[in-house]
Amino acid sequence: PALTSCSQVKRALLALTIPLEALQAVKTRMLQAMHRGLSRQTHAQATVQMLPTYICSTPDGTEKGDFLVVELCHSQVRTLWVNLPGNGNQSIQEMYRTFSMPEDIMKGTGEALFDFIAQCVQQFLTGIGSSQHRFSLGFVFPFRCRQTQLDKAELISWAKNFSCSDVEGKDVVQLLQLAINKLELYHVHVIALMNNTVGTMMTCSLEGKPCEVALIVDKGTNCCFMAEAQLVEMVEDTSGQMCINMEWGCFGDDGALSDILTPYDEHVDQESSNPGEKRFEKMVGTLYLGEIIRHVLISLAAEKELFVGSNVVVLRTKGVFQMQQILEIIESEQGMAEAKKALEALGLQPSERDCSRVQQVCRVVVSRAAALCAAGLAAVLSHMCQSRELEQLGVNVAVDGELYHSCSRFKEILQNVTELLAPECAVTLLPSVDGTGRGAAIVTALSLRLADQRHEVNQLLAPLRLSRANLEHVQALMRQEMELGLGRETNATASVRMLPTYVCGTPDGTERGEFLALDLGGTNFRVLVVHVAEDGIHMASKIYIIPTAIMQGTGEELFDHIIECIMDFQQKQDLMEQVLPLGFTFSFPCQQLGLDKAVLLSWTKGFSVSGCVGQDVAQLLREAAQRKQYLGLKVVAVVNDTVGTMMSCGYDDPKCEIGLIVGTGTNACYMEEMCNVDTVEGDQGRMCINMEWGAFGDNGCLDDFFTHFDQLVDEKTINVGKQSRFEKFISGMYLGEIVRHILLALVEKQLLFHGKPCPKLQTKDIFQTKFLSTIEMDGLALQEVQTILQDLELHASFKDSALVREVCQTVSLRAAQLCAAGLAAVVEKMRENRGLARLAVTVGVDGTLYKMHPHFSRHLQQTLRDLAPNCAVTFLQSEDGSGKGAALVAAVACRGAEP
Ligand code: ADP
Ligand code: MG
Repeated sequence: PALTSCSQVKRALLALTIPLEALQAVKTRMLQAMHRGLSRQTHAQATVQMLPTYICSTPDGTEKGDFLVVELCHSQVRTLWVNLPGNGNQSIQEMYRTFSMPEDIMKGTGEALFDFIAQCVQQFLTGIGSSQHRFSLGFVFPFRCRQTQLDKAELISWAKNFSCSDVEGKDVVQLLQLAINKLELYHVHVIALMNNTVGTMMTCSLEGKPCEVALIVDKGTNCCFMAEAQLVEMVEDTSGQMCINMEWGCFGDDGALSDILTPYDEHVDQESSNPGEKRFEKMVGTLYLGEIIRHVLISLAAEKELFVGSNVVVLRTKGVFQMQQILEIIESEQGMAEAKKALEALGLQPSERDCSRVQQVCRVVVSRAAALCAAGLAAVLSHMCQSRELEQLGVNVAVDGELYHSCSRFKEILQNVTELLAPECAVTLLPSVDGTGRGAAIVTALSLRLADQRHEVNQLLAPLRLSRANLEHVQALMRQEMELGLGRETNATASVRMLPTYVCGTPDGTERGEFLALDLGGTNFRVLVVHVAEDGIHMASKIYIIPTAIMQGTGEELFDHIIECIMDFQQKQDLMEQVLPLGFTFSFPCQQLGLDKAVLLSWTKGFSVSGCVGQDVAQLLREAAQRKQYLGLKVVAVVNDTVGTMMSCGYDDPKCEIGLIVGTGTNACYMEEMCNVDTVEGDQGRMCINMEWGAFGDNGCLDDFFTHFDQLVDEKTINVGKQSRFEKFISGMYLGEIVRHILLALVEKQLLFHGKPCPKLQTKDIFQTKFLSTIEMDGLALQEVQTILQDLELHASFKDSALVREVCQTVSLRAAQLCAAGLAAVVEKMRENRGLARLAVTVGVDGTLYKMHPHFSRHLQQTLRDLAPNCAVTFLQSEDGSGKGAALVAAVACRGAEP
């Protein structure tokens, strides 16, 4: 400190020292620049380009085989053979060779350049006596490219002394492959192109501990990291993660660094070959640090603070300070002596004080570079932590470059300042050695492995992915089954029962009165009182438990229990004095013989109560009331939940003539012309038909779409065989199970969880349908998927999590599309019935799957628009359709009954 007594020197050193608050600001601006680079709107103008690399995974150590790498360097082509043993990155074998490139090639035609590179590959292969077996080649191409796949990259512009004609705008992977083919090296396939930064990241990934960031501090500087792919807006298909090559050297080209730039930086910039560009790199890269120091010395010498009496004209020569000398001045024990040596070599006669000042300048310039790198790195780490919605992030950072490897001061500052600026991240810096070559081989191996896996995954999921033609076929089949269900002769054999409901009108708003309602067959059993008044519908309800023993007991027990619940409810609601009309929402398939006469056809959804099938459930309820000597009961309507849903939405929207349920099960109802309903007398007006479409396909007509996974799910249900085929494709009770079976198959094929057995995943219903909703949520970080899976004792990597998400998406998409195909048949039939060119109709919908899943309703509506383009279908979510709807059916019935 005593040495800086002179104010001019002090001022120079101060200008080059960035206070912590300013570094904090640099970090913030780097974060902003990153966001601009990632966003679709601002990407084109962004200084930090954030280029997608299409590398979507870090290695897991199982990468295996022989690989070739070709690296285009400053004035060389480097070829490399690497053998990866597949046991982590331990005993890697490699051989390499460098070929220097004639100057004229670098400025000649593109064809000549790629021919030259291909010849290098050929000579190298001959040299190592390679066989003719297939080689996958990774191409390290350190120029800016517009990459659209791992093996597709158009050169944007040359740099670093290269200016070959006819390459810009072309796919360089293809150009290299063509040149290789010209030499008849047909066994060499270029399968990946990458930037050098990525390779560094790859080599430092150890087994079980991925390295997700790489930092290069060499002649230039750059950084790459694993980003959440959904934030990479430049890439359409966004799921999982992708490595982003930041190209952060250009940070500050828009003035973002102007408050910390010194006059020395301005001089360096002006004397460079690209003034105004790469401002960050020019403060950090070793190509520039010597130059910054030179300009500081020029200025101090001019102010007579240094080298008094020496001729300082030598300082005007560019590049007189080599990085090596600077490192020795800073690092070595005899730093002062090294400074003296270096200065004397330039013909200066430095005093003791000069040497010490030069040493200080060197230190401060290198320290600033380290602090700026740390600010950039802190931005990257904080971005990762935030985008993964973590409170803390542990991360490994691979670092390569001369400055890092041989300067302990740089290392220390980088580590400490990063910790200060990103305290939420625990960072481990890992030195990378020859990241580029080995890393490129690992990327190549990885992409080969991923491509194979992708192929297998696609094959596995293919039967679940339905084409437009498939869906049209399902629609046609549904239409056919509907006709069969409506026909008097064919009804008995149709898989879609098309049950008449005796509900002949939707509400018109004039309904009034107080009603009781029961809701049985949903998740809960409820009793309600519903008051339909001028100012709307008011209700009160209470949930009652139906014990499993009763769900699987006798009819008498069940209906006695129901009456007890009603009595309890009436008592609590103070309604004992009145006899209220009761609507009974009974969500099981019934053959209705009148509005208040419903013969149960079969139990579903976990109920199997004896002595009920074939009986009128309204009568069973009345008999139970008699047994209990309870007289306050007047059953006026038995209502299916689909009908209740339609009615309750119909109260708000008169166009609502369809009801749809997608919850535990799935079903639909709609208003059909009486003349088409052969199973009920009369041809006037319309009647609501309860389709019971869950059973669609039970006659085998959907067998083409029944996958191995559907079969496994079906085998474990209480109604094995052909019951409820359509329902088992679509509804909440089954989707999680389908996913679970697909995951098991993926584990078995070693495509998931490293193929490690997952005992917990063997448990039925462990993977609930609500997980699909969470996992598929937009913008959910993979980390959260990981957490969900962790709760199931599934230890998922990011890649695993992305795959699980893809499986969920596939299963829920299929469900929504099949549901749409069914609905398309319904709306098209209604449109034809009415002889309309266009039908406008509303569907009242209920069911937690429909309501809670983030994409189900959108996919349903989109597919429906596609399949039934002449119908304008609006969807209205019902609120408590089962309760409100049953009361409304009763009310509509009472309305009709009045004189
Ligand atoms: P029900 O059809 O029995 O009347 P619901 O409409 O509430 O009852 O549906 C319940 C079903 O919804 C459950 O079987 C479950 O599979 C599914 N489910 C529950 N929560 C969610 C969710 N968040 N996302 C998707 N499905 C869900
Ligand atoms: Mg329900």
